[in-house]
Amino acid sequence: MGSYLNFPIFIILASLLNPNIHVSGDSQPEILNIEQYLQDSPSANTRFFGGRNFNTSECTSLSPEIRSEIEDYREVVYRILETTLTGHFQGKTYDDLATFVDKFGPRVSGSDALEESITYLGQLMTEADMEDVHEEEAVTPMWLRGNESAILLSPRKESLDIRGLGFSVPTPDEGITGEVVLVRSFKEMQAMKESLAGKIVVYNSKTGEGPLHCIIGASMAAKMGAIAALARSATSYSLYSVHASVQFYDEKIPKIPVAALTLEDADMIERMLLRGENVTIHLTMTNTASSERMSRNVIGDYKGRELPEEYVMLAGHSDSWDMGEGALDDGIGPILAIEVINLLRFLNLTPRRTIRNAFFTGEEAGLYGARRYVSDHRSELDSYSAALEADFGCLRASGLLFSGSTKATCIIHEIMQLYSQMTNATSLIRVGGVPTDIYLMNRGGVPGIVLNGDDGRYFWYHHTDADTMTAMQPANLDRCLAVWASTAYIIADLNEKLPRD
Ligand SMILES: [Zn+2]
Repeated sequence: MGSYLNFPIFIILASLLNPNIHVSGDSQPEILNIEQYLQDSPSANTRFFGGRNFNTSECTSLSPEIRSEIEDYREVVYRILETTLTGHFQGKTYDDLATFVDKFGPRVSGSDALEESITYLGQLMTEADMEDVHEEEAVTPMWLRGNESAILLSPRKESLDIRGLGFSVPTPDEGITGEVVLVRSFKEMQAMKESLAGKIVVYNSKTGEGPLHCIIGASMAAKMGAIAALARSATSYSLYSVHASVQFYDEKIPKIPVAALTLEDADMIERMLLRGENVTIHLTMTNTASSERMSRNVIGDYKGRELPEEYVMLAGHSDSWDMGEGALDDGIGPILAIEVINLLRFLNLTPRRTIRNAFFTGEEAGLYGARRYVSDHRSELDSYSAALEADFGCLRASGLLFSGSTKATCIIHEIMQLYSQMTNATSLIRVGGVPTDIYLMNRGGVPGIVLNGDDGRYFWYHHTDADTMTAMQPANLDRCLAVWASTAYIIADLNEKLPRD
């Protein structure tokens, strides 16, 4: 069913953290009250919905006129493909992305690096001759990683590589020493609850529940009296790499420190315990949560020639997690969006509608920038034909995820036929709602499109120290640019906005 199956974390979150959200493979988004969503907790907005490969048999009613209108863009798409794959823009996205991420490194919410990178993105938009380039303030939370160590004291002494999960409380200065109890599921932990008081819980699940341990495992273990929790990294593959994201505490339960372990160490601890050995760990974490910091969304327009008050949004998020250099997540989003404008200008292509670049802050901590944007711009949502975001890297231009009406999905499918052969971007997955920053706009009725840059390895790199340019290939970035520019341009230039029903 495609690579969205690599995102069980969001699906589970959706069902567990917000029972109001219908999680299934259905493909028609319900249009919900945007006010209600703005009031949701940030955690509840970090979610992804199931989907399915789109079946074109649903498109028999697509009119010959719209098919022919799209077919007329074949020449334009050819020029875009030629310029990106073998022409003037060949390799440019890779170079510009490398310059960006090497210059600032990780851009975690609350850091100076993030704020400087936002200013830089604004400069790039100005250099791309975009109009109305401006910043809009948005508050983001701050959590700073400190020194972190986990020392295996018995059955032998060894240092284990860990990363605190986002917003984890620190340990006391002297650290925490505890005997380890290993569980593979919440159900198993419930059955062992009498033996967890004063212990360090190690979660080691290889099933779909595993990522959830990294999100709510601390509170679940604390409820049973545990003093700390360590969770197997939420990745399917590891060369001793730790994967860490934000975790969420239940405010009604005492907060205990929580960190992610490598797959290798989690498995080793399990083997030791199965042999009947006593496993003890000393854990020290000095991370700090401090007050909120004012940050900024940065926005710029490539004005439409006929309908400048109608929009197609090209989004990305400026912040990253604090590991690697945030190349896949999400340096690619802003750089690709700016590159689309540079490319269209180079080819003298000005669409009917305005293409708006919007780069949101505080995504990793809980969509803080995107929530603020929708709050301030909610009255404009009807003027959007679509919102597009690249936030699944570009290890390969696999295709698109789309959330919108059947007719609009058919139009997207027709557009993809113009470039799929040259880019291998053949997969169109229809989802009930798109993840990440454009999630809220999509729930407000705006058709949502996410560039699927996953080749099955996205979570090998995502939120690890390996999220760097070394994972990237220039030719794949060129294909992603061709897909993104063609899709955005045609949607912005069609006679009609994408139909919402
Ligand atoms: Zn991201």
